Amino acid sequence: MEETKGHIHPLSRTMDEIVRIFAELGFEVALGPEIETEHYNFDALNVPKNHPARDMQDTFWIKGVKETVLRTHTSPMQVRFMETHEPPFRVVVPGKVFRYEATDTTHETQFHQVEGLVLGEGITLANLKWTLETFFKKLFGNDVKMRMRPSFFPFVEPGVEIDISCFFCAGAGCGVCKRSGWIEVMGAGMVHPNVLLAGGIDPRKYSGFAFGMGVDRLVMTKYGIEDVRLLYAGDLRLVDQF
Ligand SMILES: [Zn+2]
Repeated sequence: MEETKGHIHPLSRTMDEIVRIFAELGFEVALGPEIETEHYNFDALNVPKNHPARDMQDTFWIKGVKETVLRTHTSPMQVRFMETHEPPFRVVVPGKVFRYEATDTTHETQFHQVEGLVLGEGITLANLKWTLETFFKKLFGNDVKMRMRPSFFPFVEPGVEIDISCFFCAGAGCGVCKRSGWIEVMGAGMVHPNVLLAGGIDPRKYSGFAFGMGVDRLVMTKYGIEDVRLLYAGDLRLVDQF
């Protein structure tokens, strides 16, 4: 009888690795509910009612249950964690998120994120930069470069988009990075005072940073998987390769 062996799915493997690195950096791990209230998913995160961001996110609303959604990001746990913990703290939240959109090679209705939140006295953008640079060096090796670009998300101010140097061409430009030499990997920023207030934290005393990382694209790029739907198809021919 032929011997068969189990394999760890590349998504699970990458999620585990990301969480392990943040644990080394002193982060604790928390999990949040996948069915979330409109309050935690949008309102508490400073997304105004009727703000286009609520449409942009193309949300699954739960039928028959008022103001309830499948969470569109792992960010709701920021406020849930603030409500139950006293700063200083460092936490990462790995998990599934959901968007109501047409599926194709780069879009699925379900995907994975790792959220991070650091709160304390005197936390600045410099702490964010050091933490994420250290994380990417541990994940991809010391040669990886990181850059921050100004961006906007309602729950941070200022907000930044984080790129890392392409690990296929080391920044020279290739098909994977669309000749730019950079790969976009996460959104981040300093936690907006309104979000701190929503979590019962005094913004005059505490500051902090947050980041949200899309894991699926990272896995696809790292393992050369060209269709995101393959990650969820349950086809053992994919998993057996790893
Ligand atoms: Zn490249």
